[in-house]
Amino acid sequence: MVFNPQIHSFSLFAKSILGRMEKMRGGLKYEKGELLVLNYHSTPKKFITHFQEQVKFLAAHFDIIRPDQLPDFFNGTLKTEKCGLLFTFDDGLKNNLHAVEIMNGLNIKALFFVIPGFIEAPTTEQKKFYLRNIRPVVNPRIDDKEEDFTPMSWDELRLLCANGHAVGAHTLTHTLVAADSSDENSRIEVIGSKERIEQVLSLKTVSFCSINDTLQSVGKKEKELIASNYSFHFTTLPGLNKKNTDRLFIKRRNVECYWPTGAFYYAIGRSDLGRWEEKIKMYGDL
Ligand SMILES: [Zn+2]
Repeated sequence: MVFNPQIHSFSLFAKSILGRMEKMRGGLKYEKGELLVLNYHSTPKKFITHFQEQVKFLAAHFDIIRPDQLPDFFNGTLKTEKCGLLFTFDDGLKNNLHAVEIMNGLNIKALFFVIPGFIEAPTTEQKKFYLRNIRPVVNPRIDDKEEDFTPMSWDELRLLCANGHAVGAHTLTHTLVAADSSDENSRIEVIGSKERIEQVLSLKTVSFCSINDTLQSVGKKEKELIASNYSFHFTTLPGLNKKNTDRLFIKRRNVECYWPTGAFYYAIGRSDLGRWEEKIKMYGDL
């Protein structure tokens, strides 16, 4: 996909140039033993052929792992030929089902982080919930269909899990701000989400994904709640993961299906990783 000023920001334009340069210089190189975790959100139908191109590129350059292989990766027992890659999708939007169709065709299994409060909001309130709690600013040239603002249902999630995909918790209402949150509210957001998913889908929820900016939504008490209730914590902090590293501090790279191809390369490259080191240390020190 090429740069389009109607849907892409100047920052994506700059990243698309830097990403192409990095690719030309051979900068998109990874070691086996590393794990790149990608973090997508909305996957509108009109961009799905572009998503397909991204997935094909990734499938050619990485060993894509399934969510149920995470324990083996972190134990160091998962053998891959290339760097591992895991697909994750935040917020559980219904338009992710288009992405699922593409991934099913390539036998790729992904991890979907869902928000029970969004799923269970009355149908007439779901779009309002999305715009209030999840994403207040939306570009109508990117998201314009009902399914771009509404969640997958429990039945759709049940079917995904039956097909080898996995579901994780993304708080109960997507409103957690650590500095403003009481002990009870944090408990409800972090553990209540897991309890509800387990109750409805009758499965064990081992993965939690913090919302917005991990450094704002997770403080010391939330970090402890996550550690005592989940096996894996996926954060918003960018970086690569290595075997035998902290499974409660999984770094991810954000990428979206509508991005120009160069910006996609930039997102999976290494050139901007250095600028996150201070934030990564801040989280580690919490
Ligand atoms: Zn989210």
